[in-house]
Amino acid sequence: MSIVISEAVDYAIGNGLVKYNTRFELTHAPFSLTPCPVSRELLGQLSDLTPVANGVWIKIANDPAFLKSTLEKTARTDGFVRNLLNLLPLDDHFSQRQLLISRNDFLLSAGTGESSRQVPKQVEFNTISNSFLALSRQISLLHRHLYRRGLITAEPIPNDPLEAAVDTMAAVIRSYDTVAPCLLMVVQEREQNIFDQRALEFRLLEKHGYPTCRMTLKEISEKGSLQEGHLKIDGYTAALTYFRAGYSPDDYPGDTEWKARSLIEHSSSVKCPSVGMQLAGTKKIQQLLGQADILRMFADEAASKMINDTCVGLYTLDEQVGGLTASEKARQSPARYVLKPQREGGGNNLYGSEMKTALENLTEEQQHAYILMERIISTPAPSALVVEATCEEIPSISEIGRYGVCFADGKTLIENRDIGYLVRTKSSDKDEGGVCAGYACLNSLCLKA
Ligand code: ADP
Ligand code: MG
Repeated sequence: MSIVISEAVDYAIGNGLVKYNTRFELTHAPFSLTPCPVSRELLGQLSDLTPVANGVWIKIANDPAFLKSTLEKTARTDGFVRNLLNLLPLDDHFSQRQLLISRNDFLLSAGTGESSRQVPKQVEFNTISNSFLALSRQISLLHRHLYRRGLITAEPIPNDPLEAAVDTMAAVIRSYDTVAPCLLMVVQEREQNIFDQRALEFRLLEKHGYPTCRMTLKEISEKGSLQEGHLKIDGYTAALTYFRAGYSPDDYPGDTEWKARSLIEHSSSVKCPSVGMQLAGTKKIQQLLGQADILRMFADEAASKMINDTCVGLYTLDEQVGGLTASEKARQSPARYVLKPQREGGGNNLYGSEMKTALENLTEEQQHAYILMERIISTPAPSALVVEATCEEIPSISEIGRYGVCFADGKTLIENRDIGYLVRTKSSDKDEGGVCAGYACLNSLCLKA
């Protein structure tokens, strides 16, 4: 193993840049040794967009009538969306405190024609269970170490979304104003990315003195109860409930888990995110926001322009696109589209021949569970990617996420800001992008020379 790789792996393991692999053995998280170069202008554009997008999504989450009417057809064939819709409050004018920890993900689209300028295009706006708040800091620290040692030439841009998220969570818990408050972290039973979650938990206690109860939905159903609206658990009051699970149907094997979710939703615990916000983060809502008149319902002109500038084509399957339906178009040119169901967590989208087969076989009703998205084509650049201590130099593309926090009381935004970034770099021949799903490596940003 070369000096740089062995030192990088030792640094990673020594500083919590770790996860479990699929066999549940401890390993370093996959990482890149080649920070991703971006211009100052691009950095500014993406970080300026974070509070704007947060504001738009808070408005959508606060509009149950809109969510119900627009997701109604999807819910007819998608039982998961249906169950979430059933948890929405009935009152159209309800007001609630909620915390959004968002991540707006972008790919850099290769410039067309004579322009070689790369433009950021939105992959999706994530509203639930955004991971790597801690590990994205650790990868920037690893790169800083290697840079100072002269082992890499690019200096990473400092990044600490964890600290900002922890401070905001502490402010939320403080504002709940109760004795024995805790953060209730909803988790999956076997979590490969547990150290990313633990770092948040440990920092919240260390810096702000607030403990965390880590529980699965099943455990919450056994231990949680409502007392005068408060969610009581293990002798604590869950001031803030933070979902690092609950975004996938797999997290709800039966009624027990849905009962736990309902208990949380009916309590006065501040939710991160609210069920409305989870629904606002579906691909279907993203597709609707691609329509200028719908986007304008939630965004003023300036915000609409900023968001619209990063949008690619988003379609329902039966929509007319140049004389054909979008579904027919995608079957004609599968390389130019991605087929997406209403799922989070990676590995659910369909590409190429798999997409074509699915499009040929979906019934009219099933079509409403999906959207079609134009494929964003990035220009590959060589990167050194380290997976399980083995380095490979391969043509790669990078996906850049901007993290944001937004603490809202009804329509009032108490805090709303950009808190840092995530870069995931993957081999250019891979369609999907998740780090824990085994597709991508953590990376940092550096300024373009
Ligand atoms: P999930 O909710 O499962 O994370 P995403 O919409 O983020 O779903 O898609 C997963 C991955 O697929 C992304 O991280 C990205 O790498 C790739 N991807 C998604 N949409 C596109 C697109 N329009 N063009 C190119 N790649 C895409
Ligand atoms: Mg995603």
